[in-house]
Amino acid sequence: MKEQKHKRVVILGGGFGGVYTALHLEKALRKRDDFEITLVNKENYFVFQPMLAEVVSGNIGILDTVSPIRRMLPRTNLHVRDIESIDTKEQTVTTTPGFRQQPNVIYYDHLVLALGNVTDFRGLRGLPEHAIPFKNLSDALYIRNHVIHVLEEAAIEHNDKRLRLQLLTFVVAGGGFSGVEVVAELNDFVREVVRNYPQIDSSEVRVVLLHALDRILPELDEKLALYAQRILEKRGVDIRLNTLLKAASGEEAILADGTRIPTRTLISTVPSSPNPMIDALDLPKERGRLKADSSLLVEGTNNVWALGDCAIIPRPDGGVCPPTAQFATRQGKIAAHNIVAAIRGGERKAFQFKELGKLAALGHRSAVAQMFGVNISGFLAWFMWRTIYLMKLPGWGRRLKVAASWTFELFLPPDLVQLKLTNTTGVAHEHFEPGEEVFHQGDLGDRIYIIARGQAEVARGENGSEALLARLGPGEYFGEMALLNQTTRNATVRCLEPLDVLSIHKREFSMLAANLPAMRESFEQVMNQRRLATGSERALSGTRPLTKQSLGAAAPRADEAEAVA
Ligand SMILES: Cc1cc2nc3c(=O)[nH]c(=O)nc-3n(C[C@H](O)[C@H](O)[C@H](O)COP(=O)(O)OP(=O)(O)OC[C@H]3O[C@@H](n4cnc5c(N)ncnc54)[C@H](O)[C@@H]3O)c2cc1C
Repeated sequence: MKEQKHKRVVILGGGFGGVYTALHLEKALRKRDDFEITLVNKENYFVFQPMLAEVVSGNIGILDTVSPIRRMLPRTNLHVRDIESIDTKEQTVTTTPGFRQQPNVIYYDHLVLALGNVTDFRGLRGLPEHAIPFKNLSDALYIRNHVIHVLEEAAIEHNDKRLRLQLLTFVVAGGGFSGVEVVAELNDFVREVVRNYPQIDSSEVRVVLLHALDRILPELDEKLALYAQRILEKRGVDIRLNTLLKAASGEEAILADGTRIPTRTLISTVPSSPNPMIDALDLPKERGRLKADSSLLVEGTNNVWALGDCAIIPRPDGGVCPPTAQFATRQGKIAAHNIVAAIRGGERKAFQFKELGKLAALGHRSAVAQMFGVNISGFLAWFMWRTIYLMKLPGWGRRLKVAASWTFELFLPPDLVQLKLTNTTGVAHEHFEPGEEVFHQGDLGDRIYIIARGQAEVARGENGSEALLARLGPGEYFGEMALLNQTTRNATVRCLEPLDVLSIHKREFSMLAANLPAMRESFEQVMNQRRLATGSERALSGTRPLTKQSLGAAAPRADEAEAVA
């Protein structure tokens, strides 16, 4: 690498670790210019995660938990992009293209890795498609809007008991800090606003917390955890301990013991996994986190630093630092000091910090806190929670806004506005479990489905009996008939084994069909073949279930095709 006059410090991640490192580097820079700071982050704002749960309930405003990084770090070059790759040999970071279809390459002399961790649903059937993570502002906003949306639907669908129960059941998986805080806020919010829906019987609302261990909040002293458990249960949260979430569909949460909880709202704060960017790095790791020494230098390197949730950092008293904001902010200060020492020469410092305490808010003006070894619970803990986190919010402007929101929240009912931020998703991945119906005969047709994995059967009910029309597998599609003819579904499609589909909304399907005549013709041809076959006695008799082979792939032959809804 060519020697640079100004050393380039590149920080990846604009969370607690990254932003606090940059803040301290800016302080060290003062009027000098011997190094420059670049920070790369997906968003142009910093999220104060401890208050995210309050965005769900609307106790604080949508933007109150975030601060623009540009204002916090005026001397830092901010790149708001996704990081695509990191090359520690060439000392480069490549970010995704923006308006110009060219990747952007950033060179560094010192690299700070503060990319946090992610909630990773891979390998859990149906969770990537149907579970909502709870980590970012967009997750909190999505949950809030979704919850209001299901309440609106429950008010309309109050005559359909099965659907009503699904809509009024809210499931949260993970009984750690973030799971407990979100379930507490969600429970308070739903039970309060449901009063505005005269069509809904409030006794039908169910809020369920699933936790894999034998008590929630394992990070806290047992007495406090049991207190939190009692408080939540008293307010109506159904806490299921020693319970693992195994799979999900759009209509159910499926537990490891086979229990199925009908729900349209599944939030999961687990499992927490290393950031894929860190995973891809050829650097020493332990349980997916980068192994750094007490000066925060990644083992085996002399210019790569790691901190926050993506790093394993030893504590002087043994053990390793927990993944909390409290630690990440203090690590930022040490990382900045040591980078400056590496550039200007000087002694490096070791990270030494004794945890001040742990707090978890339980809603309804109660919390649990373990401060300097003393257990505090109830109103006093809640007051401490609010005071401490208010003072930790960056900037007086934000602190005043949050203080004002909290004051109004004491007197005013929670806001019930649903923000419709996006149109219906055009193309979506969906997962169905055996026995579930993708759609039912007579339903309105609004989507076409392409099978990625699994098997489904097509059946038509007539004169009180059901005829099996076809069995479909990967690569085949169904649902086109109702879309092309603007009619209701003429058959039911039921899942035979775990089924992953790509579903395309009729708006996008119509656009494609209108602009690609060949595609429309091919769909119409298949539809006509299927329609012909549906009329045949063989198809309706249901005596011989038809297989994928007999049906053909995406474009079945005329003599073999069956009706596919
Ligand atoms: C809901 C919730 C509540 C919490 N409450 C508390 C609490 O009360 N007290 C406490 O001490 N801790 C709390 N924590 C934990 C705390 O927030 C984390 O420990 C802390 O955020 C870790 O900081 P970090 O910098 O390592 O990661 P993060 O703050 O997660 O920052 C990582 C940053 O990297 C960015 N990033 C990741 N990948 C890419 C990419 N490929 N391209 C570009 N940018 C990328 C992300 O957008 C993010 O801005 C809570 C966490 C959550 C989720």
